[in-house]
Amino acid sequence: MSRKTIDKNLSFFVTDTLSMIEETLLRKGKIAILHNRKGSSKILRCEKCEYKFPCSTCNSSMTLSDDGKNLLCRFCKTVIPFDKRCPACGSKKVGERVYGIEKIYRLLKEYYPDFTIVKFTGRMDGTEEEFDIIIGTSVIKKILGSYNFSLLVIVSGESFLNIPDYNSEERFFIMVNEMRSLLNNPECKILIQTRSPNLEVYKALVENNPDLFYTRELSIRKQLLYPPFSEMIKIEIKGTKKDVFERKKEAVEKYIKEQGYELFYSGPAFPPVKKGKGVWKYLLRFKDNFDRDGLRKLAEEIDAAFEENPSQI
Ligand SMILES: [Zn+2]
Ligand SMILES: [Zn+2]
Repeated sequence: MSRKTIDKNLSFFVTDTLSMIEETLLRKGKIAILHNRKGSSKILRCEKCEYKFPCSTCNSSMTLSDDGKNLLCRFCKTVIPFDKRCPACGSKKVGERVYGIEKIYRLLKEYYPDFTIVKFTGRMDGTEEEFDIIIGTSVIKKILGSYNFSLLVIVSGESFLNIPDYNSEERFFIMVNEMRSLLNNPECKILIQTRSPNLEVYKALVENNPDLFYTRELSIRKQLLYPPFSEMIKIEIKGTKKDVFERKKEAVEKYIKEQGYELFYSGPAFPPVKKGKGVWKYLLRFKDNFDRDGLRKLAEEIDAAFEENPSQI
């Protein structure tokens, strides 16, 4: 592979990241690279005019549904059809592929043949002591305290943030802070690649200022009535036998109707893009008192999963 081709293929690292990686390698420092497996799909951005597909309701970046036909907002559940064009300039170059770990690993090995690059899959077998670069998903957290790292690279902030969950930013914020506290070397740099460096979550991380993050996060949640400004109940039915499955669904729907509750979401999956394989989710949101025990009992009776303020909706 020619140097030029490799450069093009390594485009998941911007030039500044590559210089920092090289600088660290030359100083014999250890590097950890974190890549989110979930981000193996596409991230939306217009290559021509940099349009980022903001949600018309809440201004968060929208994400692409699995079938590529809809845009989804992870915050307010807005779903709009996607005609594969940039609404700002009309360009059709709007998708950006995000590589998986395997590909990044292979290309780094080709690019830096003189250095030892390993993948971390959750277990160390003792031979990794010699590595210069280690790459893995968030399981990499496990070993951050075991070595003296000089650089931690998060390949794509978007792959953590652009997932359809109202609390994905908070989880990302907590994860990065956790990682920071695990690092032995106080001089270790954390580098997060992102196309939206102006997001409050990054500012809060750079300034090490949780207040900044939580003030904004809470104002959005208040506006959209997400926990802690409401209570969310998730009831999930699983099953392979169609008649049993349907009976369970009927039981939940009958109960909800009797109680006069309003369903926030009911469907095979969230976001509603894939045909569910015997999984049905009900989300209920309450601003006032409700019969929590009644709902819990109902879930028990039909052997459904019951969760209050679920971490993942
Ligand atoms: Zn555009
Ligand atoms: Zn929205």
